[in-house]
Amino acid sequence: MIVGKNRATKLVVDLHALQQNIKNEKKLLQSQTEIFAVVKANGYGHGLIEVAKAAVGAGATGLCVAILDEALALREAAITVPILVLGITETANAKLAQENNISLTVGSLEWLHQYQQINGDATAQENLKVHLVVDTGMGRIGFRDVDQLAQAVLLVRNAPFEFEGIFTHFATADETDESYFKQQLNTWHLLTDQIDKMPRYVHVANSATSLWHLPVTGNMIRLGITMYGLNPAGTAIAAPFALQPVLRLESHLNFVKQIKAGSFVSYGATYQASSDEWIGTIPIGYADGYPRRMQGFHVLINGQFCEIVGRVCMDQMMIKLPAKLSVGTRVTLIGQQNGQQISCDDVAQYAETINYEILTSMAPRLQREYL
Ligand code: PLP
Repeated sequence: MIVGKNRATKLVVDLHALQQNIKNEKKLLQSQTEIFAVVKANGYGHGLIEVAKAAVGAGATGLCVAILDEALALREAAITVPILVLGITETANAKLAQENNISLTVGSLEWLHQYQQINGDATAQENLKVHLVVDTGMGRIGFRDVDQLAQAVLLVRNAPFEFEGIFTHFATADETDESYFKQQLNTWHLLTDQIDKMPRYVHVANSATSLWHLPVTGNMIRLGITMYGLNPAGTAIAAPFALQPVLRLESHLNFVKQIKAGSFVSYGATYQASSDEWIGTIPIGYADGYPRRMQGFHVLINGQFCEIVGRVCMDQMMIKLPAKLSVGTRVTLIGQQNGQQISCDDVAQYAETINYEILTSMAPRLQREYL
């Protein structure tokens, strides 16, 4: 993978802001509730290892990732806190998790039987740490049946397993209508109240649940988007504390020209200058994760909003300038400049998506600078 270290386009990641968000979240929680920082998808685009270390430094006692390879990368970076893989890992690869003290999510009896078949005979080894996932209404992965869950609990209490956790995930915790959330919570109790002894970690909360539905069952939360300073509901519901955005996206003008009235800009010739105009080009495009559909939106230059004209290209895009500006002038695509701001939510709204997708689309090609 090639990182663009020799160009001005970069992501600036404020790890102090990230740590402050964790500390503010912690104030909302009961003292014994732990925080596992969700660092999947390259730390929501911010950088897996850097974010993980900063989160642990701010009091996160564990980490969550989506896939085994992300967990292995954390172990290779000498990170020793508990790590949970939230997605399903193929049984054929699961031994790697056990060997690296990585906890896996399990949502079916078939998975447990398969793992037993492959690894049941192994002697003198640590057991595989398992978190049973309960599908209370997310409809994605997990046990939905009380008897199957009971059988799974019996299985994971014995070698080659260790019953380390149990959890569920809410589908609508970021919505004002709480009816489906309550339905899921009821289902959680119906399915899990029969378990005589709960494991070490019981966790049901993502960011939205921890912001708007406390107290909830559990002794650990899985904190993602809030840690990155963004609201899980976008702009729909206010957060109980001020979230500090962690990420800025910056570039600069690397080509400036004047075009005549009637000239066209970019693929498809979809933009035509209505008068003589100054146009700047910046070295960032959709291959860097900035959405192609942002034509007509704006960036900040010298504290002024300037329109993106013509289609966003793979590696470059064009901006209508208020006047002739110098090559090298700073351009902010996400962040603040001279008191003006373009938030990740502004970009997401224009792109008709959610802040999560904008963050996690930030390409590995973008160099990341850590504050
Ligand atoms: N838990 C699970 C199972 C998830 O899939 C996710 C993210 O998608 C999270 C927690 C973190 O969610 P959030 O970023 O909304 O805090």
